[in-house]
Amino acid sequence: MIYDCAVIGTGPAGLSAALNLKIHEKSFLWIGRRALSDKIARAEQIRNYPGFPDAGGDALAGAFRRHAEAMGLEITEAMVNSILPMGDHYALMAGADFYEARTLILTTGINQAGTLPGEAERVGRGVSYCATCDGGLYRGRTIAVVCNNARFEHEVAYLAGLAAKVYFFPYYKSPGALPGNVETMAAKPVGVEGDVRVSGLKLNSGGTLPVDGLFCLRDSIALNTLLPKLALDGGHIAVDRAMATNLPGCYAAGDCTGRPYQYAKAVGEGNVAAHSVIEYLAKLAKNG
Ligand SMILES: Cc1cc2nc3c(=O)[nH]c(=O)nc-3n(C[C@H](O)[C@H](O)[C@H](O)COP(=O)(O)OP(=O)(O)OC[C@H]3O[C@@H](n4cnc5c(N)ncnc54)[C@H](O)[C@@H]3O)c2cc1C
Repeated sequence: MIYDCAVIGTGPAGLSAALNLKIHEKSFLWIGRRALSDKIARAEQIRNYPGFPDAGGDALAGAFRRHAEAMGLEITEAMVNSILPMGDHYALMAGADFYEARTLILTTGINQAGTLPGEAERVGRGVSYCATCDGGLYRGRTIAVVCNNARFEHEVAYLAGLAAKVYFFPYYKSPGALPGNVETMAAKPVGVEGDVRVSGLKLNSGGTLPVDGLFCLRDSIALNTLLPKLALDGGHIAVDRAMATNLPGCYAAGDCTGRPYQYAKAVGEGNVAAHSVIEYLAKLAKNG
C-alpha cells in the first residue's frame, strides 16, 4: 500500500500534522515513539504555550497523548533510517520494515547527536544505524557502538550476542550492565577512518581503534544521511512558507526547520505542512 503521507516524528509538530491529516481523512503513517517526544515531558515549567499557563511538561505531554488517542491516531513505533525518492513517491526504511508514501512531512526535531567526520560517506560500508538490519553482517567481528540514549542498550546487548568484541561509546551518564564482550570506553571517537569501508575510529585520546563496523544508535538520524538530496540551510531543513522543501511532495515542520525551538512554532508549522500536503495531493488527483 502507498500511503498518502508519512509523518516522521512524534513531537508537537508531528502530532499537529497527524491531527490535520486525520481530520481530512488522508491515509497516512505516523512514525516515531508512542511516548511522543522526550522534549515535551522534560520541560519543568512551560509559560509560552497558549491555554496551558504554568503547566509542567508532563501535563502538556499527557494532554497531547490524550488528544492523539481521542482522535484515534496510531503510531508506528520505529526509527526511519533512510528515505529514497522513487519518482512519484518515497520509500522509507525503518529497521527491517519498508513503507511507501506519496508525500512526506519531516518533523524529526533537531539532531543533537550530530555525526562524526567520515561517517556519512561510509553508510552501508561499515556504518549502520540499524542493529536488527545489519547486526548479522558482523558475526564474530569487532565493532564499535556509539549510543546517545540508554533506551538503545538492548540493541547493544543484541549486537554483543553476534560480534566477538564491542567497543561501546555511551553519550549519557551511568550506562547499564552489558555482556562481558562489551568494553565501555572513556575516550570518545572524533572521526571514522578507512579507505572505502570503515577500518577504525580516531579517538580523542589519540590513536586509532581498529574496528570492522560502526553502529550509531541515536535518537535521530542526521538529515544528510536520512534523505541525501534534501536541501539544508545551516543544519536545518530549508523550507518556504508552505513548509515545502526542495523535493516534490516533501514538507518539514518544527525544530528541524530552524529556530526558535518552541512548541507553538512546531505545532503551527505541523499544521501548515499538513495543509500543504492536502493541497499537493488534490493537485496530484486532478492531474492524474
Ligand atoms: C528541557 C526542555 C525544555 C523546553 N521548554 C520549552 C518551553 O517551555 N517552551 C517551548 O515553547 N519550548 C520548549 N522546549 C522546546 C520544545 O521541546 C521543542 O521546540 C519541541 O519539542 C519541538 O517539537 P518538534 O516536534 O519539532 O520536535 P521534537 O519534540 O524534538 O520531536 C521529534 C520527534 O521525532 C522523532 N524522530 C527523530 N528522528 C526520527 C526518525 N528518523 N524516525 C522516527 N522518528 C524520529 C523523535 O524521537 C521525536 O519523537 C523545551 C525543550 C527542552 C529540551
